[in-house]
Amino acid sequence: MSQATNAPARSWSVDWTNTLFLGGYHLLLIILLPIYLIQSDVSASLVWSTAGLWTLCLLAITMGYHRLYAHVTYKTHPVIEAFLAFWGTVATQGSIFSWAHDHRIHHRHVDTDLDPYSAPKGFWHSHVLWMLKKRPDINPRIIKDLWKRPELQFQHKHFASLMVGANAIAFAGVWAITGDAFGAFVIGVLLRLFLVHHCTWFINSLAHMWGSQPYSTEHTAVNNFILSILTFGEGYHNYHHTFAGDYRNGVRWWQFDPAKIVIWTLSKIGLAHDLKKVNNLTIKRRLVAADRHLMMERIEELRHRIDVDAWSLKVEEAAASLTENLNGLKTASDKLQRMKNETIEQMRTVRDEKVQEMRVARDVKMQELRTARDEKMAEMRTARDETIQQMRDARDETLEQMRARRDEELEVLNRRIAELKQTVAEEMDAWKEMVHLVLETPESRLAAIPVRA
Ligand SMILES: [Zn+2]
Ligand SMILES: [Zn+2]
Repeated sequence: MSQATNAPARSWSVDWTNTLFLGGYHLLLIILLPIYLIQSDVSASLVWSTAGLWTLCLLAITMGYHRLYAHVTYKTHPVIEAFLAFWGTVATQGSIFSWAHDHRIHHRHVDTDLDPYSAPKGFWHSHVLWMLKKRPDINPRIIKDLWKRPELQFQHKHFASLMVGANAIAFAGVWAITGDAFGAFVIGVLLRLFLVHHCTWFINSLAHMWGSQPYSTEHTAVNNFILSILTFGEGYHNYHHTFAGDYRNGVRWWQFDPAKIVIWTLSKIGLAHDLKKVNNLTIKRRLVAADRHLMMERIEELRHRIDVDAWSLKVEEAAASLTENLNGLKTASDKLQRMKNETIEQMRTVRDEKVQEMRVARDVKMQELRTARDEKMAEMRTARDETIQQMRDARDETLEQMRARRDEELEVLNRRIAELKQTVAEEMDAWKEMVHLVLETPESRLAAIPVRA
């Protein structure tokens, strides 16, 4: 029989290790939880210690596996890394290598067939079923930066034993606190594993389905406040897929993202550094582009009721002007920052050079002085002092001139930035009104509104 007449072979095979482990502990939980609840009262200490484990595991996944290893959005002290790696291991989500590997592929090929937890394939696929299928081996090139680190190699190589050991320590801890071994196993291990797993998995499933898309509609990722609570800040997934290099997921100060607060606090006490952050104006520009896209869609939808050309023109013009001013503001602010850094750096260099010249000149003079000491010492000393004074004057003058020039430039730049800020603020208000008008006015009323571009 020729190949062509055969039904297409199933393109995947079952990952029996994952399937038996995940299926096994869910089954065990379903059996043991009712038995435990019938037999004993759940003590407050059991609830709190399990909640503590749940918090540590999820924070380690968010701050460690996700933002530190998969996206490298900051760097941290080895002690913090060890802490995150330990609790990430207790969370039982595979090694740092395999997690970061799959996650980087998820971002690179989001929503396509190459995406391991592609959301368009449905809730259950992206939530859990993808783990029951055999995955291709890790491609070290995708995690090149992590692959060369021996301690991460070790965690990967011995993950199964480390995972069992770390969970045994967590179990022993809960047992010691509560004095209840059965409870520590059913609630502290099995139920906690269940809660940690499903909360993380919601980011692959629900955070690509249920929520808002203020930053981009180019991928399925959404922002969802409830999911942020369940995952210590991972719910702002629409922002995250738009700007994956940012150490924050909830960028607004009021958004619930404890992981960003912990990372920021660590940086303030010297335990984290190189925090990567997307510029505020870049984020604003992205928001304007997303709004523009939505408005154009609605205008197109209402094509038979309203004057499409006039409305499109009006939106396009406002968007173009706002974007241009945001760009101008970004360029000016960047320049201001650069000047502030550079000028101080340059001034320092110039000063150092002058000082060096002075030193050489002084040494030459000293040498001459020494040679002619017997004859004209006093005279030479005066000459030396004069030279030094001249040099000092020259140095001060140069610094003075540079300072004056810089101050002048800074003043011009600051004035320009103030103007642009004012314009952007006004245009932003008008823009928000227009977004509200186009997206939220009922069709019939929108048709009655006269448009002027
Ligand atoms: Zn995602
Ligand atoms: Zn990510």
